[in-house]
Amino acid sequence: MSEQSDELSDHLTRFRALCSTIQDLQQAQGLLDWDQQTFMPRLGAEQRSHQLAALASVTHERITAPELGELTHQLSEQPNLDQDLRADLREVARERQRALRLPRDLVAERARVCARAQSAWEEALTRDDFQLFQPHLERVLQIVRQAAEAIRQDHASAYDVLLEEYEPATSEQALRQLFDELGPALTDLLQRIQGSAHKPDLSVLQGRFPIRAQEAFVLQVIERMGFALDAGRVDRSTHPFTAGTMWDVRITNRYREDNVVPAIFGMIHEAGHGLYEQGLDPKRYRDFSGGYCSLGIHESQSRLWENLIGRSRSFWRFHFEPLKQAFPGVLDRVQLDHWYTAINAVRPSLIRVDADEVTYNLHVVLRFQLESALIAGQLQVPDLPGAWREAMQRLVGLTPASDREGVLQDVHWSAGLFGYFPTYALGNLYGAQFLEAMRRDLTEMDELVARGELRPIKQWLNEHVHRPGRRDWAPQLCQRVTGAPLSPAPALRHLERKYGEIYRL
Ligand code: ZN
Repeated sequence: MSEQSDELSDHLTRFRALCSTIQDLQQAQGLLDWDQQTFMPRLGAEQRSHQLAALASVTHERITAPELGELTHQLSEQPNLDQDLRADLREVARERQRALRLPRDLVAERARVCARAQSAWEEALTRDDFQLFQPHLERVLQIVRQAAEAIRQDHASAYDVLLEEYEPATSEQALRQLFDELGPALTDLLQRIQGSAHKPDLSVLQGRFPIRAQEAFVLQVIERMGFALDAGRVDRSTHPFTAGTMWDVRITNRYREDNVVPAIFGMIHEAGHGLYEQGLDPKRYRDFSGGYCSLGIHESQSRLWENLIGRSRSFWRFHFEPLKQAFPGVLDRVQLDHWYTAINAVRPSLIRVDADEVTYNLHVVLRFQLESALIAGQLQVPDLPGAWREAMQRLVGLTPASDREGVLQDVHWSAGLFGYFPTYALGNLYGAQFLEAMRRDLTEMDELVARGELRPIKQWLNEHVHRPGRRDWAPQLCQRVTGAPLSPAPALRHLERKYGEIYRL
């Protein structure tokens, strides 16, 4: 071996070691955060915030270290790099650039401002008083815009910079185009549904569903999906979420005794996220391009399972009997068809997390329109509640009577998460487009699902969507998997077909 290639292999070993440590640090933060949201006693909060801040600061130090910069530069100059290494170098360079452009005191100040804003938001929500939150939101917005401007350089807008953190290679303009097509089509479908004389009978969902039996039932479902319980666990939390590593996926869910529906779909949703994590490439897991592709792709996995599989008629052809058996006497007189239409009922609501499949994306379009205007300086915080009410009426046909049911309902903006909401809608769109591609390969998909055989779906997703990780960004992944760029058409086709039948449009 030549001296030069010896040196190169040393560089590569060192580069990989530095990258793995950064991934390890980030995963440790994720697990501490999971613990905080599940089992940590209340008094642990203060010390936990120090632990998380310490890890965040060490991680920032590692990613901005000059040695990592030199290695990235030297390796990038080499000819004939394999595609995984090229993707790692691309990701490290991008993340370093973002971290280096951000002044250190701005990072610390942002953390402090957001921590205070989150407590203020909680209080404002409890008291239903936007005024309490307004000065904090103004401060958050100011610092988020400042951070975006510091990173900006070749981005077309400050909003693009924010978006890139969750959804690389997607732009404000591309989203606007997608949503301009999606929004009116959904509003039109919603109006036709509301004009239909056929209404699902929601009384069939009523009953008393013991929580232990709910837990046992949803566990059976996710095992059938292929979720590996020796590489994950399920716990309770206020809001369902997924954390952990691919060998240790932590899913949480919530339960209410008078309604089994939220627990079923909450669990299928989170298991969809969990399967993505478990399906990543173990050999590249500690590399920068071995992790999940983007938040939109992550959400595509949860939405695909929750809505396209879990809320399908085929799914309940198999699962309705086990459900009845899990709750003896409760659903005895309910017919499969009534159950299916009731769990898919379209009811415009003021609250995003309660929204049905048809109106959900409209809630996202609303947030995108408002937050992009805030970031661009076209909308001022004091005018936000009014703008919210106007947009809600225009898009969903409802006007919130209070800010608790309006602008105060989500935590995201108080945490400085601007550019995050669109990933929820992207998830729905990518999910529908992936499913169409999957049907071309698994032509018997509905029959499999109706027999309770869900593993082939997991295996298809493993191969096409999970294992590549972040080798490509989401738009390229979509092109490769489905043969076409992202479009709202597959999601709209799915909704038209499904709700056309349920509501006889
Ligand atoms: Zn999700």
